[in-house]
Amino acid sequence: MGRRGGAKRRGTRRARRRRRGAVVTTAPVAAIQRGWQSCEACGLLSRPGADAGACPRCGEELAFRKHRSIERTWAFVIAAAVCYVPANLLPVMVTTTAAGSAPDTIMEGVILLWSPTGWPLSLIVLIASIMIPSAKILALVYLLVTVQRGSVANNAERVRLFRTVELIGRWSMVDVFVDTFTAALVQLQPLMAVEPGPGLLFFAAVVVLTMLAVESFDPRLIWDAAPSEEVVHA
Ligand SMILES: [Zn+2]
Repeated sequence: MGRRGGAKRRGTRRARRRRRGAVVTTAPVAAIQRGWQSCEACGLLSRPGADAGACPRCGEELAFRKHRSIERTWAFVIAAAVCYVPANLLPVMVTTTAAGSAPDTIMEGVILLWSPTGWPLSLIVLIASIMIPSAKILALVYLLVTVQRGSVANNAERVRLFRTVELIGRWSMVDVFVDTFTAALVQLQPLMAVEPGPGLLFFAAVVVLTMLAVESFDPRLIWDAAPSEEVVHA
């Protein structure tokens, strides 16, 4: 701890000394401008030589930018937004009891589960099935619009937002698990049958499409519009 703190202090002292000197700022240069390519799998920065297009360390295919990233991401985001409507309006499960069968949408399921004992599950379904998918779609639209407008503001925050969406995406299937789990819980009651409704298909489509959208988006695009911005290397 002490050593690390000391190193940090030495670092800032050195930076201060440098700041007093002549070169205090440099214009950041994108790797693409220098002909360098970064590997998406292992992160190695290399200049493509004779073996063009392959990472010298891990063999992953290299590209300066993902092919047609913006168009493909838009296509997946729009498709996800379209599927989001029937996913919420159509019943995700059909409950059959002695009294007859009743279809339930996600929201009706949330309300149905809401009870003094069942509220944690109700809250999980609400967050996993309604809030997270819509937040993911909105975040991707925001990233796409700002990249297309050539925005240079909040670049680091936008990268962080993308990383968050990417991280959530890895856990997206949790939504489906939660719904299945819920159905299984309801099924525990005697003389009751729960069947998946058509809404579940659209819901799964939303999950898959947002994952594909995240996969298509190239976060390097965020920095492309800021070639002359000055940064202090401290
Ligand atoms: Zn690599």
